[in-house]
Amino acid sequence: MDQEYILLLEKSKERNELIKRQMKYLGKFNNKNFDHVVAEFSDEVFAEIDCLKCGNCCRTIGPKMNGPEIRRACKAFGLDEKTFMKDSLVRDEELGWMVAVMPCPFLREDNACDIYEVRPRDCDDFPYMKDRGIQRSLGRLAFNTEFCPAAYLIAEKIMERYAPGITK
Ligand code: SF4
Ligand code: SF4
Repeated sequence: MDQEYILLLEKSKERNELIKRQMKYLGKFNNKNFDHVVAEFSDEVFAEIDCLKCGNCCRTIGPKMNGPEIRRACKAFGLDEKTFMKDSLVRDEELGWMVAVMPCPFLREDNACDIYEVRPRDCDDFPYMKDRGIQRSLGRLAFNTEFCPAAYLIAEKIMERYAPGITK
């Protein structure tokens, strides 16, 4: 991972308790336009962050995969579906099939995704900043700041906008 992103994650770790507290606090409210503001923060952050210099989500959490996504990934990568499911996926009662092997079997050494064109929607959506009703999911954002430099920067922007004065 790029040194700059390692430093961001160190900073995120230092501020983890504050971030968790603030996200829990802000999650109690229903600020007007919150989704829109956070989506803009996300665009600003991802205009600066280069995921190909990071790849940490693909090393840390396994994405959800539904049936068609499993089939498309196996076809693109030349894998036997049953073998892939047995060796690399786990069934979560609530979320369904999830990649259980870390780093993700499709992650390349250069942090590119071997099945990018057919990657699961969960990968595309991460860190889920374009979801609706994001204010109710700020606990998940706080969790993601622990390994995603972009999520950390977005959380800082949210705190600066909605909880100024208690962000230090
Ligand atoms: S499928 Fe691709 S984008 Fe998704 S976790 Fe694996 S390597 Fe990363
Ligand atoms: S989404 Fe976050 S953790 Fe994943 S590669 Fe981009 S910056 Fe890194």
